[in-house]
Amino acid sequence: MTQNPAKAENKKIDNEWNTKLESVADTEAAEVRTSTIAGTGVFAKRHINRDEVILPLTGLRLHESEISEVNRSLSLLQVEEDEYLMATGTIDDFLNHSCAPNLAFTPDGQSFFALRDIEKDEELCWDYSTCENDGEWSMDCLCGTAACRGKVTGFPNLDAATRKRLLPIAQPYLRRLYDNA
Ligand SMILES: [Zn+2]
Repeated sequence: MTQNPAKAENKKIDNEWNTKLESVADTEAAEVRTSTIAGTGVFAKRHINRDEVILPLTGLRLHESEISEVNRSLSLLQVEEDEYLMATGTIDDFLNHSCAPNLAFTPDGQSFFALRDIEKDEELCWDYSTCENDGEWSMDCLCGTAACRGKVTGFPNLDAATRKRLLPIAQPYLRRLYDNA
């Protein structure tokens, strides 16, 4: 979270992180398992109470100008208008999207907290639209919830009601950009 973008090029980037499940460190509350949604996911190891902070948001912080084509195809999580966290194979990188998530960003944008009580063995998910400001980006959603939007898009392409609902749990830079929009 605190890397100086100017020094990021000196860091070794592991583009195979997503194949190394056995090396992902669990936390006291969550672990990576095979998922029904998308191959792998993160699951609750115990009952989690609403509002509990569950996982920190980690990754290699990169300025837009530092992101190569090969890295762009991997998981990037937007944290500023021109800055991204690139996945490095820690547990938070394996969280899947859901249109009815049980996790969301804390107000400082640096952790995930529980939106509701979560049962042991439930999959932990967050809404990918709450970090993304790219009007071109979308992915088909297979979350299967009643609230499923079908396509996950960047924040600009959400309908007004969804935007309003997600804004309080979005990355701080999105709250700044869209608060009065
Ligand atoms: Zn969905």
